[in-house]
Amino acid sequence: MVKPFASSADTTAKEETFTELAAGVYALTAEGDPNVGAIEGEDFLVCFEARATPVAARRWLDKLREHTDKPVRYLVLSHYHAVRVLGASAFGAAEIVAHDQTRMLIAERGRQDWDSEYGRMPRLFEEPSSIPGLTWPTVTFSDRLTIPLGGSRGDLVLAYCGRGHTAGDIVAWLPGERILFAGDLVEARAALYTGDAFHNDWATSTLDNVAAFPAEALVGGRGAVAVGADAVAAAIAQSRHFLDELRRTVGWVHGDGGTLADAFRAAHTALAPGYGGWPIFEHCLPFNVQRYWDELDGIDWPRVWTAERDREVWEALQG
Ligand SMILES: [Zn+2]
Repeated sequence: MVKPFASSADTTAKEETFTELAAGVYALTAEGDPNVGAIEGEDFLVCFEARATPVAARRWLDKLREHTDKPVRYLVLSHYHAVRVLGASAFGAAEIVAHDQTRMLIAERGRQDWDSEYGRMPRLFEEPSSIPGLTWPTVTFSDRLTIPLGGSRGDLVLAYCGRGHTAGDIVAWLPGERILFAGDLVEARAALYTGDAFHNDWATSTLDNVAAFPAEALVGGRGAVAVGADAVAAAIAQSRHFLDELRRTVGWVHGDGGTLADAFRAAHTALAPGYGGWPIFEHCLPFNVQRYWDELDGIDWPRVWTAERDREVWEALQG
């Protein structure tokens, strides 16, 4: 049977779950679709992630508005991927915050990434004509940025943990509540996408830095909220194990003089028993294997995915 390209055949709307993790700290998860969050300051809101289109973002904002009518001062983007940033205009945020490298990646490949992700995940692009153009951060930083929330609400700390899912992922940390928004650096019972990743850094020092936050709740990029230190550790461990198995199998085939197709089969065989039933596993794996193969070939900076290159790699590995 021919596998439909990426997530193009996934047309069923996912059930959304709204959670108030602590007073004024919110997350919306959706059975493996990209998660979003929000944190109340004294007289403003910080939103985390923007969804794929303004129309999709507005559905999230409508839910949020049942709990708070504070204006959005900051929209924080964990990284540059289209399904997380192109809905930004709906927030009316005073500032759009991201990592320095995220701004650079949007300039370098934002347009191609938009086309690529639209082809891979069309369902997430609700009314794509509502997107006014690329999303540009207004504030960027390299290491850490602290947002005082006002009153007795403490700080929100935005932190770079190293190269991982992309060159410019950031996490959002609430030290008082011990809640971590980890973006796509950590997934909870959803497959990892590593097509723009730095596997070796991510699986080692970057996830070590994520794990160093003493989190008691973690909102990953996809999947349910991990609640409790054990669940947080399990989500991080699962993400690391996925990366380690990918590195082990693709690395073995590459070192042994095999082909990219051999590497894909080896990775699939190793990962499918544990991860095959999780969202976007089949969709991501060809792109993941191709990117790690490139890394092993010495290509440090990820090649740009275009709609055409997506189809070529898919055809070669899943076709
Ligand atoms: Zn991503």
